[in-house]
Amino acid sequence: MAKPKAPRVPDVAVAFRELPGTSVGFWVVSACPFCGAQHFHAAGAGKSDPFEKLGEVEARCGQGRYVIGLPPKPKRKKERRAENKRARKAQGGALDDIILDDWDE
Ligand SMILES: [Zn+2]
Repeated sequence: MAKPKAPRVPDVAVAFRELPGTSVGFWVVSACPFCGAQHFHAAGAGKSDPFEKLGEVEARCGQGRYVIGLPPKPKRKKERRAENKRARKAQGGALDDIILDDWDE
């Protein structure tokens, strides 16, 4: 078995934010796993690709390192599907019995 890589480096979901009026972007850690505070990590400016800045970084508080990355997005899709279902139900509900309904794409 391969050794797990850096087991003490937690994954942290970040959100992208841009300074108003500039092309300077930041990745925002809403809650640091070490200190619980919000941290900002420079995501480059202008032409540089902010996604290149994702990965392992040192926490701003200096208490450790974490891996910043985008949060998974299945939630949004599920919500939308739930809405569709609800809408369909409102139209009579008969279509809800079709099993293929859950096989979207
Ligand atoms: Zn911290």
